[in-house]
Amino acid sequence: MATAKPLYDRLSKNITAFPPEEAREMAFMLLDHYFGLRKTDVLTDKPLPPNRTEPDWFKILERLNRQEPIQHVIGTTIFCGLEFEVSPDVLIPRPETEDLVRLIMHDFADRTDDVPILDIGTGSGCIAITLARFLPQSVVTGWDVSDVALTLAQRNAEHLKADVTFEIQDILNVPTDFVHRYDCVVSNPPYVTRSEAAVMERNVLDYEPGLALFVDDNDPLVFYKAVADFCTRHLTNSGACYVEINERFGEATQQVFSDRGFTNIHVYKDIHGKDRSIRATF
Ligand code: GLN
Repeated sequence: MATAKPLYDRLSKNITAFPPEEAREMAFMLLDHYFGLRKTDVLTDKPLPPNRTEPDWFKILERLNRQEPIQHVIGTTIFCGLEFEVSPDVLIPRPETEDLVRLIMHDFADRTDDVPILDIGTGSGCIAITLARFLPQSVVTGWDVSDVALTLAQRNAEHLKADVTFEIQDILNVPTDFVHRYDCVVSNPPYVTRSEAAVMERNVLDYEPGLALFVDDNDPLVFYKAVADFCTRHLTNSGACYVEINERFGEATQQVFSDRGFTNIHVYKDIHGKDRSIRATF
């Protein structure tokens, strides 16, 4: 009977474009995705499912060795314990963003009345959907400028049984007669400057959408200004705004919020000790 360990060994040995540690992680992900085998199943050499359909390993290895993100190869990623479909049309959800979502869940956990939430630049829908799933009182809307991203986000919401309203809307062009107000406005906008892109890893640069990643060097805070302006009109008095940020612009982004009348502004660091997100309230 075919067992997991030899296949795992073969896959990790043939993922040659990455350091061995990363290649092994990827081999675990492949066995989990295709055969539902967890790390412990692989390490204890459990049998492979008897009626399995073998994926085209050669093709998969070839794509991985071309530095294509494994999330594109398998078509999904895990975010806050939920499985999201991803594609080259959306940013692959990152662990840093999980921290932001956990902060919001913590802040609103005790609310018993409805909590209207807006996610600006929703992409795969990971923030909006996770909040809708785990915060029972949330009433979540997700905006994006990309209709293909919204189609994917909608599909994720359906698979994950999350109630989110997705709308095509550019934060740089909100209609002047827009009236809704939110207790929570959250955004992980594009924040990598074009000059930083020059030193980015190929697997991000070649495969992830520029629209979700990059901003012009001459106005790198354009989206934060728009989000903060929007909040001055559409955040409730006791509401809070949460944004993921570029580590180089912690102070400058904080300033954007204080310039617009926010008085309570906190910068949070990521696990690497870098400024990664901001919570701002009035
Ligand atoms: N953290 C992402 C990266 O460095 C960028 C996310 C974003 O632009 N919002 O790849």
